[in-house]
Amino acid sequence: MKLISPTFEPTDAGLDNPPTQTRILLIDDDPSYLFLCKRYLKGEDVFNYVVTTASNLKEALAICRLETFECIVVDYRLHDSFGTDIISELRDQLGHKMPSTIVLTADGGVEAAIESVRTGATDFLAKHDVNQESLCRAVRNAVQTGNLRQSLIQRVEELEKANSLLLKRNDEIQRFYHTVSHEVKTPLTAIQEFVSIVHDGLAGEIDEEQKTILNYALESCDQISAHFNDLLELSRFETGKMTVNLTPSSIYGVLDHCVVSSTPSAIAKQIDLIIEHQRDLPYVLIQSNRIIQVLSNLIGNAIKFTDPGGAVTVNVAMVNDASALRISVRDTGCGIQDSHLEKIFDRLYQVSPATNNQNDSGMGLGLCIASEIVSLHGSRIQVQSEPGVGSEFSFELAIDKGSDSTIALSA
Ligand code: ADP
Repeated sequence: MKLISPTFEPTDAGLDNPPTQTRILLIDDDPSYLFLCKRYLKGEDVFNYVVTTASNLKEALAICRLETFECIVVDYRLHDSFGTDIISELRDQLGHKMPSTIVLTADGGVEAAIESVRTGATDFLAKHDVNQESLCRAVRNAVQTGNLRQSLIQRVEELEKANSLLLKRNDEIQRFYHTVSHEVKTPLTAIQEFVSIVHDGLAGEIDEEQKTILNYALESCDQISAHFNDLLELSRFETGKMTVNLTPSSIYGVLDHCVVSSTPSAIAKQIDLIIEHQRDLPYVLIQSNRIIQVLSNLIGNAIKFTDPGGAVTVNVAMVNDASALRISVRDTGCGIQDSHLEKIFDRLYQVSPATNNQNDSGMGLGLCIASEIVSLHGSRIQVQSEPGVGSEFSFELAIDKGSDSTIALSA
C-alpha cells in the first residue's frame, strides 16, 4: 500500500542495501522547511540518509506502521498537535522499537525543550539554529544513541532469556537431587538394617573379623546417608522450604553439645579443642539444633584441616553494642588461599584435596548449608584465613531483647 500525500514521499529505501542507509522521518507542517531539512540531510556526504516526510500526526503514525526509521525529527508545534504528542503516540505504537527523536523548537523555547526531553526525545534543536552542520550532527548523535539503546535492549532480552533458562535448569537440578536422594535413601536404609542384623549376630554367629568388616560397611552406609541428607536438606534451603523457629535459647547448651560430639575426633587427631566464653551470657534468638549443626560443621572442618598437635579454639563474646554474640571457630590448620575464600560457601565446592593435603571425605556441602542456616538467623558467616597459618570462621547471633534473662555459666 502506498500513502499519497503532498509531503509524503515513499522511500526507495531498499531491501538491496539496507545497512548502508539510515532512514529518517521528518515531520513538519511547513513544506518549505521540510524541503530545507531534507536538502541538509541529503547533502551529508558520509551517511546515506534516506529521508521520508510527513506533515501531521495521522500521517506520521500511518507511515510508521509501514516503515522503520533510525531517527525521527519532529517540529514542536504542528497545526493539529504538538511534536511531543507525536512522540507519545509513536511510542505507544512502536514500543521498544521506538527510534531516537529530535524535536525542533521554534517559539516554545526552553519550556518546549524541557517538555520534549521529558516525553523521551533524544535531543532538541532550536529552529533558528538549524543548519546543515547542526542538523546532521544532531541526527548522527541521535542515530548512534538509538543504536546503542537497541543493542542494550537486545542484550537485556538475551540475558533475560538466558536467566530464565538457567532458572529452569536449576529447578531441574534441584528436582534431580531430590529424586535421587529419595530413591537412594530407601534401599540404603534397607542395606543398613540387613547389615546391622548380621553384624549384631541376629542372623547367626559371626567371628570378630567378620564383625569388623561389617562395621566398615555400616560406617560407609552412614557416610553415604549423611551425604544424601545434606543434598536433600540443601535442596529444601534452595527452594525456600526451610524455615527456622527462633526461640530464646542458651548458647551454653549449644556449646556443650558441640564439645561432646567433637571431642572424640579432636582427641583422635591430637588436637587441642579450646572453648573460650564470658560468664553469664544472655539468651540468643536461635533454633538450637540448627546452630549446633553450624558450629559442629565449623569445628569438624577445623579439626579436619588441622595437623596433629594443632589447636581449635571456639570463642563466644558479646559484640561491642551488646546486640549480638559473636561465635568464632579458629584453627591452626592449613588455611585457605584468597582465591578460594569466596567460593567455599558454594554448593559442592571443595578446595582440591591435593592443595589441602587432607584425606577429605566431605562433599563440599557443609559450609553451603551452614551459611544458609546462619542467613536464616539474620547473619552471615565471615572467614579470614592465611595459608599455612590457619583460618577463622565467625558469625553473629542476635541477643533476645525481650527477656533480661541470662543463663548461669554451665558447669
Ligand atoms: P566439606 O564437607 O567437603 O569439607 P565444606 O563446605 O564444609 O565441605 O568446606 C568446603 C571447603 O572449604 C573444604 O573442602 C575445604 O577445602 C575448605 N575449608 C573449610 N573449612 C576449612 C578450614 N577450617 N581450614 C581449611 N580449609 C577449610
